[in-house]
Amino acid sequence: MEQPVIQRPKPKVQDPIEQEFWDKCQDGTLYFQRCSSCNVWRFLPRYTCAKCGSFEFEWTPSTGRGSIFSWTVTHQAFHPAFAADVPYAAIVVELEEGVRMASRLVNCSLDAIALDMPVEVCFERIADDFILPCFQPVGGAKQ
Ligand SMILES: [Zn+2]
Repeated sequence: MEQPVIQRPKPKVQDPIEQEFWDKCQDGTLYFQRCSSCNVWRFLPRYTCAKCGSFEFEWTPSTGRGSIFSWTVTHQAFHPAFAADVPYAAIVVELEEGVRMASRLVNCSLDAIALDMPVEVCFERIADDFILPCFQPVGGAKQ
């Protein structure tokens, strides 16, 4: 008998500006806020610029490219929806825009992960109405 599919949880949104970030991801492009006063990129989503204090910003498309700043391998499923995926790599990506983002590495064997490895965003559908940004090695899968 086939097991029921357990959907992955969507990110828990605590503020409307976080919802804007996730909504922007749904068209398959990664956007970050960019300060309209000093042009600094920002992530996590927030209302003021950490550099100049401005409230003005624009949602601006990212190149989606960066490198692995840090990672850890998760061996335990902390939610039933991840049971089939362990072990998997949780990563921090430093994007070309300078922001750092926690995400998940896909299409890469755990043995191939390296510090500063170039990665690019990809999107994984986790629900009928939700896609989640993940990252994969630049140039395709690494096994
Ligand atoms: Zn600024």
